[in-house]
Amino acid sequence: MANKYLVVGGVAGGASTAARLRRLDENAKIIMFEKGPHVSFSNCCLPNFLNKQVAKSDDLVLMNPTIFKKQYNIEARVNNEVVKINPEKKTVLVKDLSSQKEYEESYDKLVLSTGALAIMPQSIKGIDKDNVFIVKNVGDVVKIDNFLREKNIKDVAVIGAGFIGLECVEALMDTGKNVTLLEATNQVMAPFDYEMAQILHKEIDDNGVNLILEDSLVAIEDDKIILSSGKEVVAKAVIMAVGVKPDIDLAKSAGIEIGKTGGILVDQSYRTNFKDIYAVGDVIEVQHRITNHKTKLPLAGPAQKQARAAADSINGRTVMNRGVIGSSIVKVFDFNAASTGLNEKDCIKYDLDYDYVFFIPNDKVGLMPDHSKMFFKLLFENPTGKILGAQAIGRGNVDKRIDVIATMITMGGYVEDLKELELCYAPPFGTAKDIVNNAALVALNILYREYKQVPVMKVRELVESGAYIVDVREKKEYSHSHIKGAINIPLSEFRERLDEIPKDKPVYMHCRSGQRSYNVVRALGQLGFDNIYNISGSFLGVSYYEYYNDKTKNREPIVTSYNFN
Ligand SMILES: Cc1cc2nc3c(=O)[nH]c(=O)nc-3n(C[C@H](O)[C@H](O)[C@H](O)COP(=O)(O)OP(=O)(O)OC[C@H]3O[C@@H](n4cnc5c(N)ncnc54)[C@H](O)[C@@H]3O)c2cc1C
Repeated sequence: MANKYLVVGGVAGGASTAARLRRLDENAKIIMFEKGPHVSFSNCCLPNFLNKQVAKSDDLVLMNPTIFKKQYNIEARVNNEVVKINPEKKTVLVKDLSSQKEYEESYDKLVLSTGALAIMPQSIKGIDKDNVFIVKNVGDVVKIDNFLREKNIKDVAVIGAGFIGLECVEALMDTGKNVTLLEATNQVMAPFDYEMAQILHKEIDDNGVNLILEDSLVAIEDDKIILSSGKEVVAKAVIMAVGVKPDIDLAKSAGIEIGKTGGILVDQSYRTNFKDIYAVGDVIEVQHRITNHKTKLPLAGPAQKQARAAADSINGRTVMNRGVIGSSIVKVFDFNAASTGLNEKDCIKYDLDYDYVFFIPNDKVGLMPDHSKMFFKLLFENPTGKILGAQAIGRGNVDKRIDVIATMITMGGYVEDLKELELCYAPPFGTAKDIVNNAALVALNILYREYKQVPVMKVRELVESGAYIVDVREKKEYSHSHIKGAINIPLSEFRERLDEIPKDKPVYMHCRSGQRSYNVVRALGQLGFDNIYNISGSFLGVSYYEYYNDKTKNREPIVTSYNFN
């Protein structure tokens, strides 16, 4: 007899599972239930409807039940909510939301891809008001668009500075709104380390967004929001983007085991504790490939891969689920920001012995008109050099660099491998030694103790304690702007001025981006100076690191003026 497969949830994980099941089993009966009005819509492009980069909301819907039936012989039942699972009887109870009628459907195998729910803290006064929105499906963005247009609203607050929040902010700014972005922690985009986030803070601020960090939402009124600091901000519409949590109620009520992170617990082949029930996507708990800890990773790529694997497993194929590393990317105005693997915060949390490279190379040959700098951070294990993670922010192809590192991590690569990696090169695309190769070279210098560094966040402390800081840029650059108290000994002069460099105390070197100071550090090391440190990120890094906090915390800058070029 033909197999009967039921899939709950009709978007990224659900639709991918159903399609793969069909490709593996032409005779099966496949029914996909979706409680919303659309299957297979592009969640990822939802914010792009707010600025009409996607012109019509219908364009967000990629497939419909008729196409599913015609092309895949899959019955996609929209507005049909699965309200109960009976694992013993192997049936589900479905509510047709159009007629309100309930009916039962039996299964041989059931796949849950119910996704995640937007977190809506009920402790926030006014959270259920009509001017409060989320961005989860097509209906949500249509509602926001209508509300803003019909009420001619100018002032909008976005709560939460993860990638959905940031995408909404940019789309709203494109349409000329006054946007406040509120974030409870001290930085936007949690996958990035703080010094990298500071680059994004400046970019967000430069683009006119009212960015508020380290404050949280207490109450929403018709025309303003009230924050825990007591601050009040004008906002007539509020978009909540404070995160998502696995939508597990259906699974839980059926006795499906939930993991400690709050997602459905699945095995190697995405099977739950019931042998005929599988789960994929945002609703499950996954294992981190590097730390082996359980985690959640609500992203489209993993959901689609898990969907294929579950369908394969259902059809008797062996599945190799080796866990996730977490790669993601976001556009923040003129910058692209991507990350993969672990960041420094993770390394500290999991007590890993690690080190890092933070540098700011050019993304293309400097003679190319569209070259620009890229802020790049690589994390690696000490002393093995195993690659743990990376973050990149720049105007150019950060995705290319981070994808290379993601590949290296997946293949268990080391900085030695990264150094040797042969990547394509011509001036319009990169540099002969690509950014990732160069990052590996710096990492090896650190591993072989050829080079000592201090992080950019320590520079203020150094300045305030009167540390001996040497700026090796040329005189003209120094006179334009420099770190307060730094002594200027240009690369072109340092060999004649060695007597000015003390041997009895630490000396902290920097230039613009770290390359020239590295040369001086290497030379001094060979000339018997063994207490020399390079300031990671150099003057550019210091400028970006300090700028936003100086501006918002009203503190005395440690530079005579900032340098962002
Ligand atoms: C605005 C936005 C932007 C995003 N951008 C990116 C991006 O750029 N890159 C990226 O990797 N990821 C992005 N994501 C995340 C990505 O969309 C999700 O990780 C992915 O869609 C998860 O797939 P899923 O199948 O688990 O859940 P979903 O795609 O959310 O699908 C779950 C579906 O199940 C339905 N459902 C739930 N319960 C029931 C029930 N009982 N009966 C019937 N139906 C039910 C829901 O209505 C929902 O439609 C974005 C998400 C959003 C919201």
